[in-house]
Amino acid sequence: MKKIENRVQKEELINLLERCKKYPKDLDLINLIAIWYMQNYEMCRDNEDYKFFEKAYKLKKTVKSTHNFASYLFNEEWNSKKALKIQKECVKLKPKSCYPYLLYAETLIWEKMFLEAIKNLEIAQKKEKIWNIEHNLWYCKYMLWDYESAKLHFLNAYKDDDRELKSLFWLILVNYKLGNKEKAYELLKQMKESEYFDNAINNHDIWSIYFLYDDFEKAKENTLRCGLNIDLSDWKCLWYSILMTDKVLFRKEIDEDIRKLKSYIEEIKNDSDDYKDLSEVEREEYISDYLKEIREKESIEKTFKVKPKIDIDKCLVAEYYWCSIFGCDLCGNLRDDI
Ligand SMILES: [Zn+2]
Repeated sequence: MKKIENRVQKEELINLLERCKKYPKDLDLINLIAIWYMQNYEMCRDNEDYKFFEKAYKLKKTVKSTHNFASYLFNEEWNSKKALKIQKECVKLKPKSCYPYLLYAETLIWEKMFLEAIKNLEIAQKKEKIWNIEHNLWYCKYMLWDYESAKLHFLNAYKDDDRELKSLFWLILVNYKLGNKEKAYELLKQMKESEYFDNAINNHDIWSIYFLYDDFEKAKENTLRCGLNIDLSDWKCLWYSILMTDKVLFRKEIDEDIRKLKSYIEEIKNDSDDYKDLSEVEREEYISDYLKEIREKESIEKTFKVKPKIDIDKCLVAEYYWCSIFGCDLCGNLRDDI
């Protein structure tokens, strides 16, 4: 099956490349080849996806060619500085669709240029109703300490298309932070009644809200439902809730983790298959990390004599739009800037 797929893929590519030889200045075709390589990256030998996006951009700077190249740079190469430069050129062309503004704003957020990001999000917002736009607007306002405006955007984002209840979750946190604790708890109840609740249920963050209210039983109950496979340093509040409500379970899980960590160290020392390709320095690093984790776990009950703190601001994040590449059929995107 895999072989047939590969053959069809190759034929498709050969076809596209031959057409490109015939029509070397056809931007749509070049763009299509770039997308093809991006989606079949195992067929790339020499950064062909990058090269074709760049080729279209260098041939003619249209909204589509600039935006797609910038999108590739930001999302695939993580080169936000270069992406920003090209996005600036793109918005100067006054795009009709919201994609360029949306992506430009995301890159600005990444660079912590929130005021500039807001300007672009507001343009995008007028063009299309997308949950990420509203969500990122509140994020920027929040980061600029404009909590009241942030709250308004939260409300919109959460009503619109908040299918994983992320905006609702942050709305709860912000209310909590602003001292509206009753309102936050009321929203938490609302969350449980939402039609999207099943999508959100695996989100461990959500259960940390119960921890804020000292409702450790509920925090534990829901954590167990999602599974206890969570890191101690990232989820102190949930582990603390377990300790407060079920000491036996807590000890059992922590002891089991310590046992595993010790066995990993033994495996490294005994040259087991999983570690045999590591250099001496890497082995030492692994062992030292595992030992650190063991020490943390051994002393965790002592650390938990004091209730851990949650840094709410760290829970708040911008939401990046999955893919806004013009002509990406896989994501059902616009073919061009129309
Ligand atoms: Zn796509």
